[in-house]
Formats: sequence, C-alpha cells, structure tokens
Amino acid sequence: MTIAAIIVAAGRGTRAGGDLPKQWQDLNGLPVIARTIAALRPHVDQIAVVLHADDTARWTALGISVDHVVTGAATRDGSVRAGLDAFASAPPELVLIHDAARPLVSAQIITDVISALNSHQAAAPALPITDALWTGADGMVSGTQDRDGLYRAQTPQGFNYSAIVAAHAALSGPTTDDVAVARAAGIDVAIVAGETANIKITTADDFSRATKLLGADMDVRCGNGYDVHRFGDGDHVWLCGVQIPHGRSLQGHSDADVGMHAVTDAIYGALGMGDIGQHFPPSDPQWKGAASKIFLTHAVDLARAHGFVVSNVDCTLVCEYPKIGPHQAAMKSALATIMDIDADRISVKATTSERLGFTGREEGIAAIATTTLVKT
Ligand code: MG
Repeated sequence: MTIAAIIVAAGRGTRAGGDLPKQWQDLNGLPVIARTIAALRPHVDQIAVVLHADDTARWTALGISVDHVVTGAATRDGSVRAGLDAFASAPPELVLIHDAARPLVSAQIITDVISALNSHQAAAPALPITDALWTGADGMVSGTQDRDGLYRAQTPQGFNYSAIVAAHAALSGPTTDDVAVARAAGIDVAIVAGETANIKITTADDFSRATKLLGADMDVRCGNGYDVHRFGDGDHVWLCGVQIPHGRSLQGHSDADVGMHAVTDAIYGALGMGDIGQHFPPSDPQWKGAASKIFLTHAVDLARAHGFVVSNVDCTLVCEYPKIGPHQAAMKSALATIMDIDADRISVKATTSERLGFTGREEGIAAIATTTLVKT
C-alpha cells in the first residue's frame, strides 16, 4: 500500500507577526514547515509540498528534498488539487492532506488516521468541544449553543486517493477543508482522536504555546561545589545546618558548615555567579562566626531573582567521624527549610575515605555537592 502526503504551505498568513508567513517562521531553531515535513516523513512513501509562488527561493534555501514541489493556487481547494495532481502519473492508494502550520502532529495521530483508512474511504482527527459555546453580538452574549456532537477539526485528513481526486473534480464551490470536499461527494469520514498539542500555528501566541509544547523553553542548569574545613579545638560541628556534638570543631571564618558551603557554592556555580568567598569575603569581619544559613539563603534568593528554582541538591560529606547516618533526616529537613523546597528534593549522604588522606586521618571534613536549577 502506498501512502502519499500533501503538505499545504501556500497560505500567506502573517497573523503570527513578522514579515514571513507563519509556515516559514522559526520554531525553536527550525522553520515550521521543516518540522511538519519531518513529522510526516517516517509514515508516508511520498511527499508533495504545495508552495506559494513567492516562496520558491525560501524552499530552495531550506535544502529539504521531497518527491514533488508544486505551486499552489489562490484558494486552499486549488492548492490541494495541485498537490493531488502531482501524484497523478503514479497514483498512491492513500493520501494524507496536512496543514504546514501544524508542526506538532504526533506519530499517534498519523498512524491512527492511516489505520482508519483500512476500513473507511476517509478519516480525520478531531477533538470534541469541551468549552461552553455562546453566540455573541456587539460584545455581548446573545445566546448559548449546544456543544453536543461538535468537534474541532484537525489535520492530517486522510483519504483513498482516487476517491478524493474524484471529489475535488466534482467540487462546485469553495469549502473549508478536504473533509467537506469528501462529504460533498457523499464520502463518509471517520473521526479519529485528535490531540490538543496538534495546534495550527496562526498567532504569535500559538508560537509561544508551540515552543512550550516542544519543551524548548526549558532552561536547566547544573552546578557543583566542593569545600574543606580543618578540625580544631571545640565540642561540636555544624554540618548541613545541624549541630552535632563532637570532640573537636571545624575551623573557619563562619560556623564552618562544610556541607552547607558546598551546597551554596553548587548553586552559585549553576548560576555562573562566583562562589561564597566572592559574595562573603573572609576578609570582611562582619561574616566572622556567621551562620552559614546566611550564605545559602543568599544563593537561593539570587537564583530566584534570576527566575530559577532549586530542583534538587545532592551533598556528600567525606569523614570518618562524626557518623552522619543518625543526622541525615535532620540535615535534609534543615536544608529544605532554608531553601524553601521539599525535603525529598534533597539528598545528604556520607562516605569515609577508608582512612586515607586528610579526611581519613581525621584532620578535617570535605564535602561535595551537586545541584540542578530550573527556570520557571
Ligand atoms: Mg567553607
């Protein structure tokens, strides 16, 4: 069974803004029409693209190869007929007719339409209307409309090739789409499930929706932090916001919370905005003995000010003693409170270094941390 696709790209729609018709505008690095062709290509044997005469140079510049490139007509019907004619010398069994401005069409919709053509001469995707419908006049609601049995039509609309060619040949006036052409010729059209993501890009708003649907507006940053503090005299250590009784204390300008410092530096790192030493210089006496909470709060606030939330933090403490296990839950909870995120987005774990190196000799504690920031 041979399946052809006609991608109708002859429209001049510039409601989306810009100088270019919408199908030629960029959608996350690729012209809309290029995305549409790429979506259809794996499912069909041949492709015809119907272009406006003014767009020949744009098409050539794309460098995309298809089986037929034809010039459209003044009406959509005429453009589709030009596309159908392209296959006349070697007619396919089925043809899918698709709007170039629907680049987000899914494989599911395309294969559903093709399967429905096993048992029907025509099939097309649609979504039942779920919003209430009104009539309106002069800016006022003038009545309501029953939405039962109403659908929003999408493409690709699929047909038995010779049936839709005959239907177009018999057409006497303008129509809205190829389903209308088929029905005018007495062809029954099966409805398959459409998808809300299969939007027709018409306005500038649609471009931002399409960008979101592509996940192209995701901005995810990863950062790492590393810190070491040496042991000195004392009777407790601060680790990840928890005070733990211990025979010695970590030395430092602040409270020497090595874990929290690593987490803080990971956040600065993800932002590409320096480190603790830069934001809170040790030479500045006001930070002497400071609670490290001040540093972490500053880093999180800085992230927020730049539109990021902390998605997760993973901190590893490297020491022989104190044992971290009994304090892990309290550490997660303390960090979660300071960062104002759920504790299940935070990991605090520990390892010894097998008695090797400065941590193994209990001269100090090291900490490494990784964080992910996500732009909201
Ligand atoms: Mg430090």
